[in-house]
Amino acid sequence: VSGCVFCDLLAGGIPVSLVHRDPLCAVVVDLRPVNPGHVLVMPVRHASSLAGLTDAEGAAMFALARRMDAALRGSGLRCEGVNLLLADGEAAGQEVFHAHLHVFPRFAGDGFGLRFGPDYRRARRAEMDRVAALLADSLAAFDRGEDDRDGG
Ligand SMILES: [Zn+2]
Repeated sequence: VSGCVFCDLLAGGIPVSLVHRDPLCAVVVDLRPVNPGHVLVMPVRHASSLAGLTDAEGAAMFALARRMDAALRGSGLRCEGVNLLLADGEAAGQEVFHAHLHVFPRFAGDGFGLRFGPDYRRARRAEMDRVAALLADSLAAFDRGEDDRDGG
């Protein structure tokens, strides 16, 4: 898609440090790593959101992330643990609207973290049951194709 920086780099228009590429997915080194070894797993085909991926693309991305976890641990880079992080939507921190999964090594004291909001607490069962019912209905609608999430 024109104007998409990840489509541009996959097309060779922008310098990229490529780790892996196959017909469905690519892995590139992140320009602003949380820690050295931070990579992005992305579909080759443009899709702006997670819901816009095909099941095959989603499965391939996760399988590749699993392999990259192993690769990071065996690379010699400092890696005591690994985080997978997918920001889906601007409010979730997505900055490039071509779906991508962050895979990055972690180690004690590296300074990265996720913060809880001020209202963080244990939920009540009735609230959890209500949320479960809402999501089950929404999932069924998505599976029937009634949803207009297109992913670009
Ligand atoms: Zn793109």
